[in-house]
Amino acid sequence: MDHHNPYLTETPPAEPRATKSLVTHELPPLPYARDALEPHISARTLDHHHGKHHAKYVQTLNELIQGSNLSKMPLEGIIRATARKKAKAKIFNNAAQVWNHTFLWHSMKPHGGGRPSGAIAERIDEDFGSFEKFAEEFKNAATTQFGSGWAWLVIADGKLAVTSTSNADMPLVHGHKPLITLDVWEHAYYLDYQHERPKYVQVFLDHLVNWDFANANLV
Ligand code: MN
Repeated sequence: MDHHNPYLTETPPAEPRATKSLVTHELPPLPYARDALEPHISARTLDHHHGKHHAKYVQTLNELIQGSNLSKMPLEGIIRATARKKAKAKIFNNAAQVWNHTFLWHSMKPHGGGRPSGAIAERIDEDFGSFEKFAEEFKNAATTQFGSGWAWLVIADGKLAVTSTSNADMPLVHGHKPLITLDVWEHAYYLDYQHERPKYVQVFLDHLVNWDFANANLV
């Protein structure tokens, strides 16, 4: 993925710091206040999801790569270098989860949701036929993903497409360019919606999805 997207300004240190404990990756701050997505996603959920889950993936990743060549790589480099390698699955899972969650926070915004505008609106009409058809496909992907995973709007072979991935799996390693994601792990919605994943997905589409982010990713 290119780095033109102003939302994702991960700049890995070029020179690893010469300390005994090399900490390459940091938990990026949420791009809004913890209560900014209420009433749709509670501050309590974001406390756990960002402050505990995302933070833990960052911490574990740093522990796993310490002292190895991977500790000198940017996050996307680690993801690509460890994808589909059984012996590196633990590193891939944590690195991809760090990336996926940062992408998730930007995929939502306060007072988001509803119909898109700009280039993404035109592309959705062209490639899905209508916004309604896109929304139907996205809801279906997000609700039928069995167990933990992610739903995505991506560019695949030059066209917009909806995909879902299991656990930490993500579009970059499939040659797809992600535009928007939704986390469908239970930790993302259980406190607010319990088992009702379809409700959470509908709320994401109606009130949270950040179409500005999708437009920025299209460039
Ligand atoms: Mn999550």
